Amino acid sequence: MESHRFPSDLRPYYPEFLILLGRERNRELLARVEGRRETASDGSSTLLEISEAIARLRAGTFGLCEECAAPIPLERLRRVPYTRTCIACQAWPAQGSRPGRP
Ligand SMILES: [Zn+2]
Repeated sequence: MESHRFPSDLRPYYPEFLILLGRERNRELLARVEGRRETASDGSSTLLEISEAIARLRAGTFGLCEECAAPIPLERLRRVPYTRTCIACQAWPAQGSRPGRP
């Protein structure tokens, strides 16, 4: 299965994600301008996530899970480039302990 790669160094992919995030941001902005966003809070929080992801790209910490610091699979990042956590941490948000991680 080649579908789950965990590159140890995501920096070569930063330009690709800068473009992806720019597109996401434009799409969000357009959706808000056109009134396609029903809830303003939803749109603004996505915009915030996108700009923070761009900040992480610039800081060189993009693509690392904020919970466990593991690299996030490229496939997940390509689908949701502004995600902060890996799939495991998304499934079990930090609540003191999580299954299999004492
Ligand atoms: Zn994680």
